[in-house]
This record gives sequence, C-alpha cells and structure tokens, in this order.
Amino acid sequence: MVQTQTSPSSTGALAGKFSKEQLQWLDKAKLFARAITPAEVIASDKENVFRRDLFEKACSAEFSFGSLPFPTTYGGAGGDYVSFSLVNEEFGRRCVPIMSSLGVHVLSQEPIYRFGNDEQKSKYLTAASTGKMLAAFGLTEPNAGSDTAAIETTARIDGSGNYVLNGTKTFITSGASAEFYIVMARLIDPADESAARSGSADGIKPRPESTKRSGQITAFIVERNFEGFAIGQKFDMLGMRGYSTCEIVFNDCLVPKENLLGAHGEGRKVALSSLAKGRVTIAAQCVGWAQGALDACLDNLQRHYRDGVITADAGGMAAKLGDLAVQTEAARVLTFQAARLIDAREPSVTVAAMAKTFASDVAMKVSTEAMNVLGMDGLNPDLLIERIFRDAKAGQIYEGTNQIQRMLIARDLLK
Ligand SMILES: Cc1cc2nc3c(=O)[nH]c(=O)nc-3n(C[C@H](O)[C@H](O)[C@H](O)COP(=O)(O)OP(=O)(O)OC[C@H]3O[C@@H](n4cnc5c(N)ncnc54)[C@H](O)[C@@H]3O)c2cc1C
Repeated sequence: MVQTQTSPSSTGALAGKFSKEQLQWLDKAKLFARAITPAEVIASDKENVFRRDLFEKACSAEFSFGSLPFPTTYGGAGGDYVSFSLVNEEFGRRCVPIMSSLGVHVLSQEPIYRFGNDEQKSKYLTAASTGKMLAAFGLTEPNAGSDTAAIETTARIDGSGNYVLNGTKTFITSGASAEFYIVMARLIDPADESAARSGSADGIKPRPESTKRSGQITAFIVERNFEGFAIGQKFDMLGMRGYSTCEIVFNDCLVPKENLLGAHGEGRKVALSSLAKGRVTIAAQCVGWAQGALDACLDNLQRHYRDGVITADAGGMAAKLGDLAVQTEAARVLTFQAARLIDAREPSVTVAAMAKTFASDVAMKVSTEAMNVLGMDGLNPDLLIERIFRDAKAGQIYEGTNQIQRMLIARDLLK
C-alpha cells in the first residue's frame, strides 16, 4: 500500500495513514463538494428538497460514490470503508445536500451483497451503482424505534407463495425518492392478520400471538412501484432536511416471492449486520460536522490573531478552540479505526458503536460551542454553522440512539 503524507485531518494526527487510492477518493469528494455553491447548500435545507441530480452525479462514472465500498462484480467501485469514510467526512464538513441519502443508499445495498441471490444482486446492485435506482432502509415504525423486536408491519404468504405486506415505516431517509427499500416485516399466519385488523368491540386492536416477539422478522426488497405501496406523511424536520424523509405505507402491498431477502426469520440479522457498517458512516459524517464547526470557529478567531500573537480578548476562545480540536481529532481517529476494522474483515459492532456515539456527541458539542464563539453569526442562516448545529442532533439519534449504543458497548464488556 502506498503511503502519502497528506491527511484529511487539520492536525495531521492521521498523516501517512492513508493509501494513495484512499486519498484519491478524498480528492474526488473535495472536487464534488466544492462544485456545490453555498447558496445551493442553503436552498436544499430551506426548501427541504432532495437533489436527485446531485445524487446521480455522485453515482456517475466520474465519482462512483454510490457503490464506493463494494466489489466490482455488480458495478461496485472496488473501494473500501476508509475511503467511504473520507468521502463522508468531507461531505459532512461542507454540508453536501445528498450526504445522508448516499449513506443510506450504501447501507441498503450491504444486505443484498450479504444475503441476496444472484438475480437480486444483478437487478438491484447494478442499478444502484449507477444511481438509476436509489435505495432506502425501512426498519423504524411508529411503535418500534430502538426496540426493533417490536416491529408490527406484517407479511403473509398468499396462495401463490408471494407476500402481502401491511403496516407503516416512519422517518425513512429518501423515503419519498427511492426506487427500492429494504423492509423488515413480521411473517404471520393469515388468520392472525385478520384478527389484528378486525380488532375488538371497543376499538382496541388485540395483538395476535404471532405478531408478538415470537414472530419471525423477515427482510424484503420492496419496489416503490409495487401495488399497495404508498408514500405517507412527509416530515418538515428541524435538521437533516432535503432528504425526503417520510413514512412509507404498505396497504396489502404485493411483494413477489423472488423479493424475499435472506431466509424467513433472518430479518433482524439482515438489518443489524448492515447497521454496524452504517454507524461508521454516520461517525464519519459527524467528524465532518465537527470539522465544519471548527472551521467556522477558526475563521472567526483568525480575526483576533495577529503576527503569531493571540489578542488578549480572544485568549479564552483560543483555549476553547484547542479543546474542540482535540475532541474532533479523537473522534476522527476512532472513526477511522472502526473503518479499518471493516476493511480488514474484522468488523466490530462495539467499536462501530463507540465511534458513532463519540463522534456524534463531539459533533453536537463542537457545533454548540462554535455557536457560542460566533455570537450572532451562529444563528445566521446564510452560514453553514447553524445547519451543522441542527443536523448534528440527528447523529445522536439515528441508526440507534447513543443511549442504546452505550448499552450495547456495556453488554459487550460484561460478556
Ligand atoms: C433524521 C433521521 C433519519 C432516520 N432515517 C431512518 C431510516 O432511513 N430508516 C429507518 O428505519 N429509521 C430511520 N430513522 C429512525 C431512527 O433510527 C430512530 O429514530 C432511532 O432508532 C430511535 O428510535 P425512536 O426515535 O423511536 O426512539 P425511541 O426508541 O422511542 O427512544 C426514545 C428515547 O428512549 C431511549 N430508550 C429507548 N429504549 C431504551 C432502553 N431500553 N434503555 C434506555 N433508554 C432507552 C432512547 O435512547 C431515546 O433517548 C431516522 C431518524 C432520524 C431522526
């Protein structure tokens, strides 16, 4: 592996730790991100509109970000997770409007690589690699967030061996824009479903036996144009805007038997296996947000720095800047360690959880402190910092809240 001296980090703590190929991915990410004007970044956030054109550009042969960490067999770019993390850090730093959808797009291809058959791989992965199809991930439900075992969406087998899905998934990134979705549903007997639908006389629906935890959670690839699929409520969120995040609704949605992903009952395994990698992607995005917030502090403080001397009135703020830089660099080192473990085929759910938790807490902390340093400029909607501050909150919540990640880490230690 060719080592170079360049590094994405501001302090150079990771200098020499990236191969030439990995740094080429970083250069491409910079090229892509810097072609997007600040006005475009602000507009996608304000108008809450998904930039499909940018997504397609990101997946074009020039950039290939949509298939970066996958082998070349089904159109993958043959890169690795360190490179994908470099891209995500750069995208977070510059608030690239498609960042989160791109992360989920890669996250949603993972289970097809791992559990899909050849037909599924050639149909979905090839189209996903070129951006012809955008992929999304449907796990969370109104009554099943952290507790994924509480999934209520049902799947029953009809007379032809196909599946009929009923239920609602919520807060689905790219929900209103994707072409296919990895969906986790509970496999039930038709009799249980009619019991669930009819309910009791007082209107309270009983939860049939097989829709309780004992039911078999199973994964499916659901296309947007399948009969019975609908887009539900769209969310006008505080942060992470411009990702067409919404509910997706299955109303007797017909899913061909060919679209079963993995085996019956393997749904949680399918979901959780890709989330471990997804959390490293989130961690990298959070490092980018922290770096973006640090950049804003630096710009501000440089006004108080003359001929190598920090003016007296800015001394306290400079010490704060040093502290934020330490935390950002520590988050970066942990994140790239987690990515390296994936690339070494030793992925660690625990290290991924540590990286996601630490990096998202750092992003929240650094962006909050940056708002303090910037004073009224912190709230200026024409600057990136207020967007970073709003987006960073989501990093602590999605793909598993930080509280849950801490419990996973503790459980691993106690094993
Ligand atoms: C911007 C955004 C995008 C998202 N995109 C997607 C997506 O593409 N696909 C998808 O499937 N989901 C998505 N989600 C959903 C996300 O994964 C969930 O929000 C997350 O898993 C938490 O679930 P919840 O919001 O229902 O919180 P809850 O599970 O209701 O938790 C609420 C609080 O209780 C705490 N808590 C819960 N259980 C415990 C416990 N046992 N012990 C201690 N504390 C506990 C949590 O830590 C949290 O603080 C997205 C969410 C956001 C905000």
